[in-house]
Amino acid sequence: MYGLGILKGLGVTFRHFINSYVEDLRGAGAKLLGDETVFTRRQSLDSEGIYTVQYPDEKLAVPERFRFIPFLVQEDADHPDRPGHDWCTSCGICAKVCPPQCIWIVRGEDPVTKRPIPEPEAFFIDIDICMNCGYCAEFCPFDAIKMDHNYELASYDRTQNHIYDKQKLGKPFSYWKTIAPTTAAEEAEARGGWEHPDVIKEKKKQADAAAKAAAAPKPAAPAAVAPGPVAATSEPAAAASASTAATARAAETVETQAQAAPVVDEEAAKAERLRKREEALARKRAEKEKGNG
Ligand code: SF4
Ligand code: SF4
Repeated sequence: MYGLGILKGLGVTFRHFINSYVEDLRGAGAKLLGDETVFTRRQSLDSEGIYTVQYPDEKLAVPERFRFIPFLVQEDADHPDRPGHDWCTSCGICAKVCPPQCIWIVRGEDPVTKRPIPEPEAFFIDIDICMNCGYCAEFCPFDAIKMDHNYELASYDRTQNHIYDKQKLGKPFSYWKTIAPTTAAEEAEARGGWEHPDVIKEKKKQADAAAKAAAAPKPAAPAAVAPGPVAATSEPAAAASASTAATARAAETVETQAQAAPVVDEEAAKAERLRKREEALARKRAEKEKGNG
């Protein structure tokens, strides 16, 4: 029959219209008493009818995967080993993959040796250029940059306020766990723990070295001396006892050295690598000077 579809459509619209007021009336008392769960329920899928959000007094909850301007992850202030430490190693990958090229990083350097260190000395993002694509967060191998949920960044002065530096970009790791609990848990599982990837790697290395040292063959145990009554201890027996104690101490020292050996070897290898690198650099400099001369 002609017109039936139109009537059905109007019926749906009318039902939504009525439900809007029914839902509002249902939560009116609690809303007047300042119960914020009314707003949460009104945003949920169980709610019916049309709903107008009274922004900025009311704000819609954003989904966990929502992404706005990135922030830099830092250790929490109460972290036992590295409080407030940046997770960023200034590898520069995010700056390379950023499509509009709005990330600028200055790599940190050791004040004494002047060698680069895995920390950013400066980190800037021009938030007027950032298009919130999330590539930086996607590609960061250290989980050090994440997309934020805070979308209220408008200001009257874009020249001063919209270039975010390290101080403005830095947020504690616990913040990331709060805004994206599922994603943070997935990432921690993939990393093998809640710590920074480098910390996890270092701990694993130490555990492997300790396991290796424990598995290494140990020196033969000293011959056991039969215990005798204390009062009957003669001079040769005392000497034997002293010698046994000395042998035990020596065995203990050998064992400790065997455990420390991998660390010493590792340090020696590192020193050797640095020495070779210095030699190569000196050779290069000499060749360059020769070429210039
Ligand atoms: S990719 Fe990650 S670790 Fe590398 S510079 Fe960017 S934020 Fe830092
Ligand atoms: S979100 Fe996209 S545009 Fe913004 S800084 Fe990251 S990579 Fe660049």
